[in-house]
Amino acid sequence: MKQLVVAIDGPAGAGKSTVAQIAAEKLGYTYIDTGAMYRGVAWKALQQGGKVTDARILDVVRDIDIILRYEGGRTTVTVDGTDVTGLIRTPEISHIVSQVARLGPVREKMVALQRKMAEQGAVLMDGRDIATNVLPNADVKIYLTASIEERARRRCKELQEKGHEVSLAEIQADIAARDKADMEREISPLVRADDAVLLDTTGMSIETVVSKILEMCR
Ligand code: C5P
Repeated sequence: MKQLVVAIDGPAGAGKSTVAQIAAEKLGYTYIDTGAMYRGVAWKALQQGGKVTDARILDVVRDIDIILRYEGGRTTVTVDGTDVTGLIRTPEISHIVSQVARLGPVREKMVALQRKMAEQGAVLMDGRDIATNVLPNADVKIYLTASIEERARRRCKELQEKGHEVSLAEIQADIAARDKADMEREISPLVRADDAVLLDTTGMSIETVVSKILEMCR
């Protein structure tokens, strides 16, 4: 079977990484979580303490060494040699990551790395601008979404399970603000590619979404 390049985009909390990871495993493909890379840059910018300004972000991205590995069905992210996998999924990082991701030099660096990782094919990459900008020639393009209420519920549950004290209202407001920033930014905003299949997962189980993605790949 042909080794495909699969692009999945969509707003925050749509379940992209959950379903993409399972689908990649079933296909024997590499899964590339591009959001984790922007989160890694945000993590580094937060390390110095104090306010995270654009100048600081541009400074930290200049010599950042960011490595994304997908092994045994699990993604690990290292930034300048530190494993940040468990440290980048916090409300604090989610709160500033869109500010980081809107800057041209940050995107240029991440997109170059992402294209390199997809060179060999047999990849499933998720993010915001994969079908429109990173891999416009992808074989399969999917725009995954769900209602804001459902996305907030899923994200809230996930964070509470990890021990974070968060409220549904707070998470929903954060997701809405992040979507707005991602959709309205100047460079590579989140938008459904004309040739992407729209998959609204509201009320769907993870298994159903995965099987729909696999169907599109067959
Ligand atoms: O997917 P995730 O929620 O981890 O992404 C975090 C943030 O990274 C997004 O809200 C967006 O600002 C940025 N991002 C992006 N382009 C991508 C992937 C993520 O701008 N391809």
